Amino acid sequence: MSKNAFFLKEATCPICLTEFLATTVRPNRCIPQGKEADFHYKYSGVIPYLYDIWVCPECHYAAPKSIFNTVKHDEITKIAEILSKTKLPIDPLGERTHQQAITYFKLALLFMSYRKVPTSLIAGVCLKTAWIYRDLEDTTNEQEYIHKAIQFYEEAYSTERFPIGNLSEVRVAYLLGELHRRVGEYGEAVRWFDKAVNNPKSFAEPAIVKMARDQWSYAKEQYNEQKKMEISGDGVVNA
Ligand SMILES: [Zn+2]
Repeated sequence: MSKNAFFLKEATCPICLTEFLATTVRPNRCIPQGKEADFHYKYSGVIPYLYDIWVCPECHYAAPKSIFNTVKHDEITKIAEILSKTKLPIDPLGERTHQQAITYFKLALLFMSYRKVPTSLIAGVCLKTAWIYRDLEDTTNEQEYIHKAIQFYEEAYSTERFPIGNLSEVRVAYLLGELHRRVGEYGEAVRWFDKAVNNPKSFAEPAIVKMARDQWSYAKEQYNEQKKMEISGDGVVNA
């Protein structure tokens, strides 16, 4: 059954001009088993976001498929120089494990740092990397990549025009609230949930506003718990 979820798409590497067949997923053939509050879907079977990054099998240039071929001339020179210095033991074609996907996401983040690409796109790649670590129950790395996603989404929130990707201003504010909540920054979480609820366009997105209100209450509860622990000396007191 999972075979039907895949198809091969012809691609040409913009760095070394190798032609290859990128394993691509039909999202409507993947079976979601539930949605989490930061828009992460759990899947049984094929997990579509593991395939979001295309990797050239020859030179190992990697990027989200939406910007794989939009590299500018000066960026090509820089990336080719980096690639000439290292050769990774990877075979990026075919089905992927979570660990392989993490390698490809990190490669993509590396090359994106040498390109002029929207900050929101970098934020999205960081968030998906966090999801992959979550799937592996690797909380330490998940939290590290949530922190990175927060940093880039906050920058995008103040510098990019909405919608960014498929995210409206209300959605990004909500998502930032939820990401801060997930790393225990409850004060910041509440501040961003407030921004989502009080946004002048929030009336158009009642489902997100409801989620923001629910998660706001949850963050408040967690904040009070944290305070109680600090007072009773069970937890770490933040300076
Ligand atoms: Zn290549």
